[in-house]
Amino acid sequence: MLRMPLSSIIGQEHITKAVTFLIIHPDINYVLLLGDKGTAKTTSAKALLDYLGTIDMVTGCRFQCDPYDVMNLCSECEARMEEQELSTNTIERPFVIANPSVSMKGLVGTVMKGKDGVLFNNGLLARANRGILFMDEISHYSEDILDKTYSVAEEGTNLVKEGNLEFEHPAKFKIIATHDTESGYLPNEVVWRFDVVVKTRRIDDIEERMEIARRSMEFKNHPQAFIERYEAQEEKAMEAIFNARKHYKKVIVPKKIKDEAMKLCEKLDTKEYPSKEELANKLINIGVVNASYEGRNWYTKKDLAFAVKLAPAKFPK
Ligand SMILES: [Zn+2]
Repeated sequence: MLRMPLSSIIGQEHITKAVTFLIIHPDINYVLLLGDKGTAKTTSAKALLDYLGTIDMVTGCRFQCDPYDVMNLCSECEARMEEQELSTNTIERPFVIANPSVSMKGLVGTVMKGKDGVLFNNGLLARANRGILFMDEISHYSEDILDKTYSVAEEGTNLVKEGNLEFEHPAKFKIIATHDTESGYLPNEVVWRFDVVVKTRRIDDIEERMEIARRSMEFKNHPQAFIERYEAQEEKAMEAIFNARKHYKKVIVPKKIKDEAMKLCEKLDTKEYPSKEELANKLINIGVVNASYEGRNWYTKKDLAFAVKLAPAKFPK
């Protein structure tokens, strides 16, 4: 399906940048986009798909196992490997769209007794392995579905039990979610799980609004031509991501900055964020990506100030 290019979205540069953090830093796994209706949250999230690139997978594996990570293969690939050498093919990195009405079985899959042992039917999380799970309108999901999704993402494996039957498969994925601020309150416990939380901007400028309407109309009427027009800009954005991804390991975080991040977090009470160390780490990771984007090897106060704005806690101004 044709998607509106990320670089064609007006006035939400901080959002379109924040969604790319998922593919730059291995420890940034959960991004939440907040904002009013019609502020390009979903469009931005879906546009990320064009930036995900490809992965090599074991041919025939229904969990997209990584052929170079033989320690973490699914049981079916392990059996395959005993028979013959694993062959590989290349696919687009998975981007799986969840639906708030998903059932627990639909999410994790089902096990049952088969003729030759345990049979397993894939759930959504099997498809999301090694990719991104997109949860639009996160407040519409039930608490147990959210808890399960996060615990599997944290573990990197999905263990499904039914009576005395069980089946396990790798399920390592990142999450991008949206929340429409007009549709109600999102509990802190949900927000805290994210590594990056970013608010869309309400656009009041009349010129900007007209340009947004013009572009979305143009995309609707001539999607192919529209996408082609942004090709050069998209290529530039992809190059910036590629460079940032190569660069992030080089960024040095001075002890003074780490202490400052910790001090900021310690000032918050537990109602604003429960785990200070975890939050300080999140601040460091966000700032590292900011420095990588700018090609700097040194984490500065500017990066910390940037991170504070995108952290899943409310810091006093
Ligand atoms: Zn496999």
